[in-house]
Amino acid sequence: MTEIDADVLVVGAGIAGLTAAWRLTQAGRSVVVLEANDRVGGRLYGFDVAERAVQLGGRWTGPGQDRVKGLAAELGIAVLANTVFSDLGKERGDGPSDKMRAAVRKLDALARTVPLESPWTAPDAEALDSQTLASWLAASFGPDLAAVLGDILSGFLPKAGDVSLLHAAFYLHSNGGLAGILGLDGPAHDSEMFEGGAHRLPQRLAERLGGRVRLESPVTALIQDDEGVRAESRAGDVRARHAIVALPPTLAGRLIYEPALPPARDYLTQRMPIRGKIVVALLYDSPFWREAGKRLVETATVMLWDEGGEQSPAALSGLVSIDASRRLWLLPEEERRAAILADVAAHLGPQTLAPTAYHEIYWAAQPWSRGCNSFMTTGAWTAWGDTLRAPVGRIHWACAEVSARFVGQMDGAVGAAEAAVEAICGGPSGP
Ligand SMILES: Cc1cc2nc3c(=O)[nH]c(=O)nc-3n(C[C@H](O)[C@H](O)[C@H](O)COP(=O)(O)OP(=O)(O)OC[C@H]3O[C@@H](n4cnc5c(N)ncnc54)[C@H](O)[C@@H]3O)c2cc1C
Repeated sequence: MTEIDADVLVVGAGIAGLTAAWRLTQAGRSVVVLEANDRVGGRLYGFDVAERAVQLGGRWTGPGQDRVKGLAAELGIAVLANTVFSDLGKERGDGPSDKMRAAVRKLDALARTVPLESPWTAPDAEALDSQTLASWLAASFGPDLAAVLGDILSGFLPKAGDVSLLHAAFYLHSNGGLAGILGLDGPAHDSEMFEGGAHRLPQRLAERLGGRVRLESPVTALIQDDEGVRAESRAGDVRARHAIVALPPTLAGRLIYEPALPPARDYLTQRMPIRGKIVVALLYDSPFWREAGKRLVETATVMLWDEGGEQSPAALSGLVSIDASRRLWLLPEEERRAAILADVAAHLGPQTLAPTAYHEIYWAAQPWSRGCNSFMTTGAWTAWGDTLRAPVGRIHWACAEVSARFVGQMDGAVGAAEAAVEAICGGPSGP
């Protein structure tokens, strides 16, 4: 069995793992990245079809997300205005009513009481963490408004009945509040995008890192001793003085650790589920839907939008709701595709039924992702939240979920990676 030595080993070549590896390389450290998949990028996934960049994972950025935008600038990737959504114009609705705006302010006022570095120290943390977002919405607003808000929030949080109110408040604060996310006071959190697609960021990082990144090398175990950490993987063992685990907490919890992780950290990973949707891209020779003035389709099952632009092929992309994703995934592929196309065709016409290509990914079914983003169930932040970011010996955690700012976003992943590198390089036992 081969054994490679490095200053730092990184588990996972998503944007967090690759950023960490790149920053370590810049700091003169030797690094090996072990990636389970046959590609880099993790939850950033895309490819070109003729002139069109098809993106099925994370995509958008926005105001304040300067860490990921700074990284893009360093990699020569331009940040552009999100014309895809701005072109949808009126079809996205007339904007929230006064009643809705007041509800958003109330939610954001609550969110601001949650300290980003230590949500468990919020005033009333126990009370916030012992109820779900759904129960608070129901108690604070009428049933109709609570349902609409729950729907909006389920675009980036799980269903309101699944998530701790403390976590929802933390998430909103971390991401500039619901007003910031929706763009009530300025550009929305998804008002910008990366030229050629967000997946270019991990691709460019991997190009720079070259042979330091090893694909198809799932790590199964991390063994620590006084000298360092050894990772066991299909590519052989890697020994390093420090390890950075750049995986969402659910997946990090599935590795074998020797010695075993402290119980509190293990509890935490059991209470941080990751949830995922089906994302689809439908390609056509021409954007026929524009003739009828339609660029957006919203049904009980899907939300699809025109990708815009004049490039060929024309494209509709979007998300299947979380419940419909679960249900449709049980169907054979052809039936699922037919069901989704029929749903869209009911709004855009029969031409929709014959795309030149149909692409889909169910994030929950991706063995090395298992979803789009993670959340905390009730009680998790207050009981075990302090273990989310704390290193365990020589093992550091870096992924979008551990960031205080822009948690769950690419920007959070970059920030978490940079913090882990700083802890290692600046720490007393730095390599
Ligand atoms: C559909 C969708 C839409 C999104 N929209 C946005 C958006 O618009 N804007 C935004 O900022 N964010 C968005 N996100 C979130 C964003 O994509 C993620 O927060 C970010 O990419 C996470 O990066 P990461 O490096 O922390 O984790 P990941 O990307 O999950 O990287 C983890 C890596 O570890 C690998 N791995 C897993 N297990 C092992 C193992 N045992 N051994 C070795 N390697 C392993 C995985 O293959 C993966 O490459 C979206 C995500 C999805 C899925």
